[in-house]
Amino acid sequence: MASDAHMVIVGAGLAGARASAELREAGFDGPITLIAGEPHAPYDRPPLSKAVLLKEKSPDDCALFGETFFADHAIDLRLAASAVEIDRAARKVLLDNGERIGYSRLLIATGASPRMLSVPGSDLPGVVTLRTVDDARDLATRLHHGQRVAIIGGGFIGLEVAASAVAAGCSVTVIEAGQRLLMRAVPQEIAARIEARHRDAGVQFRFEAQLTAIAGAGAAEEIRLADGEVIRCDTVVVGIGAAPRTALAQAAGLGVTDGIVVDDHLCTSDPGIFAAGDACSFPHPLYGCRVRLECWKNAEDQGRVAARNMLGESLRYREVPWFWSDQYELSIQIAGLPAFGCETVVRETADALLLFHLSADGSLIAASGVGRAVGRDIRIAQMLIGRSARLSAEDLADPTVKLKSLLVAEAV
Ligand code: FAD
Ligand code: NAP
Repeated sequence: MASDAHMVIVGAGLAGARASAELREAGFDGPITLIAGEPHAPYDRPPLSKAVLLKEKSPDDCALFGETFFADHAIDLRLAASAVEIDRAARKVLLDNGERIGYSRLLIATGASPRMLSVPGSDLPGVVTLRTVDDARDLATRLHHGQRVAIIGGGFIGLEVAASAVAAGCSVTVIEAGQRLLMRAVPQEIAARIEARHRDAGVQFRFEAQLTAIAGAGAAEEIRLADGEVIRCDTVVVGIGAAPRTALAQAAGLGVTDGIVVDDHLCTSDPGIFAAGDACSFPHPLYGCRVRLECWKNAEDQGRVAARNMLGESLRYREVPWFWSDQYELSIQIAGLPAFGCETVVRETADALLLFHLSADGSLIAASGVGRAVGRDIRIAQMLIGRSARLSAEDLADPTVKLKSLLVAEAV
């Protein structure tokens, strides 16, 4: 790529920021502009619901790079600047301050934004979401002894906030619309372990609960459910999922189905425009369909791959999905997509519950685990999934058979 080429990235979350760094890592020495909708230098989101709320880390400690990184690497980081239009014919991005920035290659890494409630009272003070560092700063000040926290949604945000709030001495009620926790993300057996741990810590749950209103005189004071129950609260945390930010791409005439449609090189239907991270929908070779992932590792890896392909490489994105959640002393990790499994094999050890998900042809396509120590086994499972390994169910179920030995045997 000629050094007079101009690389422009919209969105300075993990995918966008990583892509900007990767462009330099790959040797590109032309201009790079990184348009950050937020007023803060790029930061990491996972600590926001865990270490920041537990007050083990300050929000300022979440920066992805050192203070001078962008200046040192001649990356023009535009803070608090939003891209409002892409003019594909002229190859220009219009910013909300009226500026037009020309691009040779453009990466859209606009991420996702929290879904909002629509019941009466949803806009009362004290009803909060958690996506940004400012949200975390605000929520952290609300979590202290004696506070009553109602959490809408038993997904990752809800449960990580619940664990942090309980640790801060709050009384916590999680209100979930579905029949169980983490319905779409983890299998029932794993969800049951997580729920039991939360109950041990004192968290209360309402399942199949339909929220009808949030009420209060000037601020949220109670949650009203369809069955007539009223739950008193001081803070309401809404964690009912996230929606990909696709408006910019859609208005530019790029394909959008759930996320911004890209091919296996993370390129949109316009060869000059790429997309990465929570915002994009991509074909996954292991699952034979299009997926959109909302997890850290995917944003990190796609940022790198998109950057290389913006420079003219031809890398295919085929990473095995992986994500984690930390709640109390428990680590929850998932490799691959368990929903695609036809058969599940259970392995129970003193420290962990592991589930292996097999496809119809017997190959390993996902693994999920919960416990004090699941990382090593899930990492090995991730490698086996990448190889579509066919393994015996007896070996997988037997905790005395080391997964590493299956990896070695499979490679022979
Ligand atoms: P984002 O991080 O959403 O970044 C997109 C950025 O683009 C935002 O800063 C946004 O303001 C900006 N933007 C949007 N539109 C424009 C525009 N028009 N112009 C300019 N800028 C724009 N994943 C895990 O695997 N494990 C975890 O433990 C975990 N914990 C999490 C905890 C929290 C509280 C949250 C919120 C997420 C967590 N995740 C976790 C998910 C993970 O952080 C996300 O998948 C990842 O941040 C996605 O990165 P991204 O760059 O695609 O999008
Ligand atoms: P989520 O994991 O999708 O969970 C949302 C939960 O809320 C689901 O269980 C959903 O049930 C339920 N729900 C939806 N509408 C509801 C309603 N009106 N009342 C009660 N419950 C309702 O989303 P999230 O927890 O809000 O997380 C948001 C984003 O942050 C996601 O991108 C997530 O990946 C990311 N994040 C990730 C992690 C992690 O990976 N460790 C941690 C924190 C945040 P249904 O499924 O039945 O709709």
